[in-house]
Amino acid sequence: MRIPYGRHEITSEDIEAVVSVLRSDFLTQGDVVPKFEETLAQYVGAPYGVATNSATSALHVACLALGLGKGDVLWTSPITFVASANCALYCGAQVDFVDIDPESFNISPVKLREKLELARKNDTVPKIVVAVHMAGQSSDMRAIFDLSREFGFAVIEDASHAIGGRYLGELIGNCRFSDVTVFSFHPVKIITTAEGGMATTRSAKIAERMRMLRSHGIERREDHMRDAAHGPWYYEQQALGYNYRMTELQAALGVSQFDRLEFYVSKRQELAGKYSQLLRALPLDLPWQGPDAYSAFHLYVVRLKQSDRERLANLHLAFRKAGILVNLHYIPVPMQPYYRDLGFQAQNWPCALDYYGRAISLPLYPTMTDEQQNYVVDVFKELLL
Ligand SMILES: *Cc1c(COP(=O)(O)O)cnc(C)c1O
Repeated sequence: MRIPYGRHEITSEDIEAVVSVLRSDFLTQGDVVPKFEETLAQYVGAPYGVATNSATSALHVACLALGLGKGDVLWTSPITFVASANCALYCGAQVDFVDIDPESFNISPVKLREKLELARKNDTVPKIVVAVHMAGQSSDMRAIFDLSREFGFAVIEDASHAIGGRYLGELIGNCRFSDVTVFSFHPVKIITTAEGGMATTRSAKIAERMRMLRSHGIERREDHMRDAAHGPWYYEQQALGYNYRMTELQAALGVSQFDRLEFYVSKRQELAGKYSQLLRALPLDLPWQGPDAYSAFHLYVVRLKQSDRERLANLHLAFRKAGILVNLHYIPVPMQPYYRDLGFQAQNWPCALDYYGRAISLPLYPTMTDEQQNYVVDVFKELLL
């Protein structure tokens, strides 16, 4: 048996949707991308959705649209994929990290306040805080939003793990407590477009800016030109943008996958519930779901009782020998060689460091069978008891 930690599902409907775009007149810049944007934004309850070729580029244009640049600072969680931090560096800004809450693995609002109070004294309050919804569970957005008002920073939700998840009973992405929310459609995520991302927002101005930046900084709308039109071919480059566009093929796959989003999330919840039931007796800390959150369960992360990286490495190896491709999310970003070279020292984020010596992501994907799940549990029992 070979069990991956995550796996996408492609149905014959998905294939037909993509093929029908291939047979159509537009492979890019047609009407399927706007349809995907509308479908998703309407679902999560945000007025605007801007699709991109990855969540990484969505984070980049979100930062730019919020005015991040040289001399600014962005803060995020050390326990995330590197993209949540890199977006600051793309903009010429600096990055710093706020340690996690040990139970949710998300930015700790207590530590955020402490760090903000210090920053206020040194005049280094961040321009943006990127709250990562680790494993699919929302960060404490109400607390982060309150702090954003008190200290004056913008908030981006990195919801790459969390589409279909809820916070205070509402879908993540409605931006009630943030300026922009970003989703990823990489194949290991909840729904996929192969590569792809989307940013949602309540601000027409931010949406417009992100739309422009994802396509070279070019403006085509007549009533938004700076100069008089030279002719019917006329367009203007008004900012330095990029080619971060999603293709029509990707959007067609996204629209088709979206039909199964709720099913996928409920299936992930069900599998997670079953893991928690079956692993109850083992010497492990199981995922904690806060009362305000309904997790999309992109990941099912269990932790050893003690931080011990060597023991963890041995466990990983033993799992792999049994054909179970457990994974580890994530190496603390400040520990990456690139970030070390910038002067970061991982011991400054003790909860992140402790987490890194304890956490394992067990296989979890909607097509996982009972037999596969039972096998993972049996192997785990054998390894731990
Ligand atoms: C996957 C992921 C990203 C990047 O997504 P891409 O679509 O691959 O660019 C960013 N942040 C987090 C937390 C992720 O898990």
